[in-house]
Amino acid sequence: MNIVRVALDVPLPRLFDYLAPDSDESDIGRRVTVPFGTGSRTGVIIELATGSEQPGDKLKAVTGILRDMPALPAAWLALCEFCARYYQTPLGEVTSFALPPMLRRGKLPRTKKPAAATSEPVSGPALPRLLAAQQAAVEAIADIAGFHALLLHGVTGSGKTEVYLRAIDAVLARGGQALMLVPEIALTPQLEGRVAARFPAAHIVCANSGMADAARARGFIETLTGRADIVLGTRLAVFMPLTRLQLIIVDEEHDASFKQQEGLRYSARDVAVWRAHQLNIPIVLGSATPSLETFHHASTGRYQLLELPERAVAEAMPVVRIVDTRREKLQEGLSAALLEGLQQRLMRGEQSLVFLNRRGYAPVLACPPCGWISRCRRCAANLVLHLADQRLRCHHCGFETRIPRACPDCGNVDLLPFGRGTQRLETMLVERFPEARVLRIDRDSASTPKKWQTLLASIHAGEADILVGTQMLAKGHDFPLLTLVGAVGADAALFAADFRAPERLFAQLMQVGGRSGRADLPGEVLIQTEYPDHPLYRALVDHDYVRFARTQLDERRIAGFPPFSFQAMLRAEARTMEQSLAFLAAARSAGEVLADGVTLYDPVPMRMQRLMTLERGQLLVESLSRPALQAFLAKWMEKLYALKMPGGLRWHLDVDPLEF
Ligand code: ADP
Ligand code: ZN
Ligand code: ZN
Repeated sequence: MNIVRVALDVPLPRLFDYLAPDSDESDIGRRVTVPFGTGSRTGVIIELATGSEQPGDKLKAVTGILRDMPALPAAWLALCEFCARYYQTPLGEVTSFALPPMLRRGKLPRTKKPAAATSEPVSGPALPRLLAAQQAAVEAIADIAGFHALLLHGVTGSGKTEVYLRAIDAVLARGGQALMLVPEIALTPQLEGRVAARFPAAHIVCANSGMADAARARGFIETLTGRADIVLGTRLAVFMPLTRLQLIIVDEEHDASFKQQEGLRYSARDVAVWRAHQLNIPIVLGSATPSLETFHHASTGRYQLLELPERAVAEAMPVVRIVDTRREKLQEGLSAALLEGLQQRLMRGEQSLVFLNRRGYAPVLACPPCGWISRCRRCAANLVLHLADQRLRCHHCGFETRIPRACPDCGNVDLLPFGRGTQRLETMLVERFPEARVLRIDRDSASTPKKWQTLLASIHAGEADILVGTQMLAKGHDFPLLTLVGAVGADAALFAADFRAPERLFAQLMQVGGRSGRADLPGEVLIQTEYPDHPLYRALVDHDYVRFARTQLDERRIAGFPPFSFQAMLRAEARTMEQSLAFLAAARSAGEVLADGVTLYDPVPMRMQRLMTLERGQLLVESLSRPALQAFLAKWMEKLYALKMPGGLRWHLDVDPLEF
């Protein structure tokens, strides 16, 4: 009996057996269409077998093995199997996620005629002479044979990308492929342009979730057939089936977007490190503000640390100043120092940026006499006031409604916005500086990639004097005219309950500050705070990431937080909090008998306890040993699948959670 064992996108941690009389070894890694329930599904053949645990008369036959593209290579299947194991997710869900949607559905894109190859060898642009530190980094990477992880630590503009390009060049010269991961879709066109200009003869494939179905599928196949030389993409590109992969680069490796927050909750950075290990090749993790996990590995010698201490172009780092706002009466949240700075830049024809990581006009609308505030009906959250289009919006579930004319509870018509977001700052700046062109950049104004590109273009063309923006502006863009950055409202993150909040704040401020003072104009960064002596801000003034990182790591060591411990979070959501917590309590008892070197904490409501009308709870599991945690989770998951649950309850496990 020829049987194929198939990974199907079904939430069950097992493979499914089907009869396939004409199958052979070469079909492992092929997509296959099979009958399932009353319908049909497409999956991936993982193994062949001659017998099955299912009785022979119950076995159904495959509908068809899809031999229209090369089989997925064994290394790719092994990568998916690792993710299934590590993230405790059924293999079929992993393979399904790792395939572009079109291929997942059993279809193929129409082939495009490949562009005619240019006959003359094209030469790239003249290369800059490397700085000594860049040269050392390039050589260190070139020296590596086999698996090795390197942390390339350098501020924005220190020439990290230049180092990546040199390393890629060396790989291409050997006939290898390179994979480069970046955090944001918005960054890929810019980077693609730079890479394409450097390697005119190379075939570059992009992979991100914003691409059209057919284009993504085509890129996947070009990678599988070996036509791609360089694959560039966001986190999902870590699953691209490169067959001659010799180098992986993860740029902005600290960025939280490398971790997927739903479905397969993988960290593309961590999976990339595993993949480099599997293939025995080097991996370069680059950042101005490495994640504390990565920095810790570099400090203990597991990763090799490469530093780029200076900027490659601008003469100096921006000057960072702390503006103590404790005794000052702010004007709509802005200090006299910042207002004066803005005025100066206006007079000099330079650009400024006011950074506030909160979009909308105000975080809440309230009725002071009766105490009504705008709450989301479905979530434990306030509705944010968006004056620009006269709406109240929930930033968690997307619910929106018109702004009420009067208080729904008492009829009072004087409703007041509390707090401030980017829209309010924008309004205030327009009033204050009528001659200035103020441009707001956040997820509302840049809601599509096209709008975002248009905004970027007008900034570059010098069509804006004052930018008001969220962290969208912080990442990877050069604004040559920008010489002043003001950060407002940053203090909230200093005392947030999430132990990673300071790490994120530091990275954001460093990044947003790094936008200023490129080219020949020195930059200045003003941070408004009521905690002027806070070590986090002091480290920013000194541009001292390492000091900040060491202090944070000391605190984490004492508290027993990652990277000194390993965590997983079980989350449940149900119609009532009782149901969620009862499920988690049952999960805890089921786990306690298995726990060896693993701590299970009490189930608690999540910080945002209601989302989309569902009440959410969580249970933290922690261990000092990753293998102990992994062994526990595998056993625990079996029990969890068997637990009785009330109707409507859903749960998931998040390994190495970033959000608490
Ligand atoms: P990062 O990736 O660290 O932000 P980049 O590699 O993008 O830095 O370099 C910043 C700018 O400096 C780019 O315009 C780049 O072309 C330029 N650059 C990089 N290295 C050098 C060098 N050795 N000499 C001159 N210019 C350089
Ligand atoms: Zn909501
Ligand atoms: Zn009222």
